[in-house]
Amino acid sequence: MHISKQSFFKQSAYINGKWVDATDGSSVTVTDPASNETLGHVPSLNAEQVAQAIEAANAALPAWRAKTAAERSQLLKRWHALIIDNEAALGELMTLEQGKPLKEARGEIAYAASFIEWFAEEAKRLYGDTIPGHANDKRIIVTREPVGVCAAITPWNFPAAMITRKVAPALAAGCTIIVKPAMETPLTALALAALAEQAGIPAGVINIVTGEAKTIGPVLTDSPIVRKLSFTGSTSVGAHLMAACAPTVKKVSLELGGNAPFIVFDDADIEDAVSGALDSKFRNAGQTCVCANRIYVQSGVYEAFVERLAQRTSELNVGKGSDDGVEVGPLISEKAVEKVEAHLQDALNKGGRLITGGKRHALGGTWFEPTVVADVTAEMTCAREETFGPLAPVFKFETEAEVIRQANDTEYGLAAYFYAESASRIWRVSEALEYGMVGINTGLISTASAPFGGVKSSGIGREGSRYGIDEYTELKYLCLGIK
Ligand code: ADP
Repeated sequence: MHISKQSFFKQSAYINGKWVDATDGSSVTVTDPASNETLGHVPSLNAEQVAQAIEAANAALPAWRAKTAAERSQLLKRWHALIIDNEAALGELMTLEQGKPLKEARGEIAYAASFIEWFAEEAKRLYGDTIPGHANDKRIIVTREPVGVCAAITPWNFPAAMITRKVAPALAAGCTIIVKPAMETPLTALALAALAEQAGIPAGVINIVTGEAKTIGPVLTDSPIVRKLSFTGSTSVGAHLMAACAPTVKKVSLELGGNAPFIVFDDADIEDAVSGALDSKFRNAGQTCVCANRIYVQSGVYEAFVERLAQRTSELNVGKGSDDGVEVGPLISEKAVEKVEAHLQDALNKGGRLITGGKRHALGGTWFEPTVVADVTAEMTCAREETFGPLAPVFKFETEAEVIRQANDTEYGLAAYFYAESASRIWRVSEALEYGMVGINTGLISTASAPFGGVKSSGIGREGSRYGIDEYTELKYLCLGIK
């Protein structure tokens, strides 16, 4: 079936259970990054319409939070089931608007759905506490309550999962939410909302507002009704939003940029390390915040690793995400390609050695060849900034102490990876890395059951796992005086 004929294909915003267009009829065009063809249009809402979405979420809050956890859980499970039933078609839609290979898009739909299942289960386990009283005539009880109306602002690189890992814990905890998806990928967000509607999630509990960030952002951050903002995106925008939330003292969760080190020690299994590096580096064409950004290899295995990494990189199947067997799709935009080019050129100017790739792909558009550059040093831009593209820079190091210092020499602290066999080294290095997440002998770490998040300029808070729901609850302390 053509994607536009699917029941979940929507080109309107979703406010208070209604599909609405912009008051003035204005819209934003959604394009396929692989062909530049127009896929559809979504409304460019004005500030008043965004305020209506906040009002709707506020009006829906009392009834939603009053439901039993089991009732909320049931609705989330129905939503989960509908997403799984439509996994292939939703994956197709995601590939069209985002560009990632179909296999990854379907994988993301399953991953996105897994957060809904996870938090449908966690909804029932929002336990409180009793604490021994501080006096004979006092009893202390702690309960957990929903934060209230929440807002989520999400990026284009994971058009489904970045939404469900905010919306699912929010709903599970009894909160209502307004989501502003990235303008590059609103169709997946609207499709998820359409399925939530079909699942019977009441009007106003989930609202999707589309349009310009500069119009929508301030309405969400300035509103005293919105009690929490959860954001995934760049560090600069995250810091700006955090400041904008300060006057109304909102709770904030921020998943921001990374600059992931990927360290290969002499005692590592080289073939495994190369596979892990490929998984971590080239997933979504290098456009994830946990992609390996700096690959450090110890001198004893350096040349062998570079050679094998280059060979496997050159074998990657580059093409249109919707074509069978494609492993690396186009980048999201021309600007993204220019950033990869700039980082590569800077590395080559400063003595980097090009091993494979190195230029725009023959397919044209926004494709870039999967590239490996060796002999990269700390002075190069790619050592400090997130490239967010298919460029693998390899650094040589001698000692453990030296590589830990270099790995931590960044304002970021999201994900880090290392490959080693010695148990002592595994403990030492895991403890020394100043990161929120560490992959040890693996390049893939994301799962709904583990806490995802960073330290330093990579953010605040954790998503997924039993900890993820804490972000959407407040503790209430009851002090009971007894006779
Ligand atoms: P990326 O580089 O991944 O696009 P951004 O941080 O620019 O990262 O964007 C992530 C999300 O934040 C998107 O939904 C985008 O529209 C939104 N956004 C960008 N600037 C602002 C802003 N000033 N206020 C609110 N939202 C913003």
